[in-house]
Amino acid sequence: MQKDNSSSLAKRLARPELLALQPYQSARRIGGQGDIWINANESPFNNSDLDGINRYPECQPTELITAYSRYSGVSQECIIAGRGADEAIELLIRTFCTPGQDSIACFGPTYGMYAISAQTFNVGVNALSLTAEYQLPTNIISQVADAKLIFICNPNNPTGTIIDQSSIEQVITQFPNAIVVIDEAYIEFCPEFNSKYSVASLIEKYDNLVVLRTLSKAFALAGARCGFMMGNRDICEMVMRVIAPYPVPLPVANMAVQALSAQGIETMQNQVASLKDNGARLSVALTAYGAHVLPAYGNFVLAKFDDIDAIKATLVKGGVVARAYSDPRLANCIRFSFTNAQESDYLIKLVASM
Ligand code: PMP
Repeated sequence: MQKDNSSSLAKRLARPELLALQPYQSARRIGGQGDIWINANESPFNNSDLDGINRYPECQPTELITAYSRYSGVSQECIIAGRGADEAIELLIRTFCTPGQDSIACFGPTYGMYAISAQTFNVGVNALSLTAEYQLPTNIISQVADAKLIFICNPNNPTGTIIDQSSIEQVITQFPNAIVVIDEAYIEFCPEFNSKYSVASLIEKYDNLVVLRTLSKAFALAGARCGFMMGNRDICEMVMRVIAPYPVPLPVANMAVQALSAQGIETMQNQVASLKDNGARLSVALTAYGAHVLPAYGNFVLAKFDDIDAIKATLVKGGVVARAYSDPRLANCIRFSFTNAQESDYLIKLVASM
């Protein structure tokens, strides 16, 4: 496909009405100099132990963006923080897709929120299939057609499988007039992910690449709701026109900065290693039971069973809540999230008892 160089890709793809939109100027964004702050209808009283909680937080907390930039190796101007990767998915759709007109493409079975987010905004969904080996289809160009956003989940949820960097890079170059969104929610669970699997280092190279990340998985902060969208400056500038005035609550920013400190990263890495060990033990037990187990690059394993009802009954009886699917491609499958040693021992015994 030919590349159109007349203006930035982000401007060409954005919903036209956003180009003229003056983003909401919150009191916090306008800022000012002085000692008496009466510009935001806040309370002067702090009734909590948390410094500054009576004031609105920064839209993009500097400390948090600096910390994620240090961790990811992506420059600060190319990072947007928000309420989980889910918010980033929604923001991308709201920024670039005109309801009733545009569409996104995704490759299933995959994470459900790409399609749901699009549908809630009356944006079309071109739901394509991964190959039998859970790779991208070879005739991708004809299949994707004119989707504005192409979502690829890598490692993929719920299969746990991975697509290599070079195949992803090929898609980025095949679709210079679409934004390719790589959802790396589970990337920390991949071995040597920075050199082998993540495409975050390509953000400076390609103007049509966006990478999504989260603190909900490896960093153990699902309840805090903190995730990141990383893309070139023009894409970030467009998305910032649509984002809420205060998407990152102060306590969340504080917790996230802590998690991204050297000590926080070490804790994350140790926990990832331990979860992967436990997951590997569980996979062995499931295989010994006769399940077909997919290679697990995330913090979960997808297992296919000959007798799905038997395993479901065992799990219910054992008080285990795992995930089954209505997608016919996953009819006989259960996804097991990796867990701590004690719970893994219990699960392994349960499977062995069947
Ligand atoms: N992407 C994928 C692939 C996920 O599995 C999830 C959560 N289940 C998300 C994004 C959303 O993550 P967050 O908690 O950051 O919104």
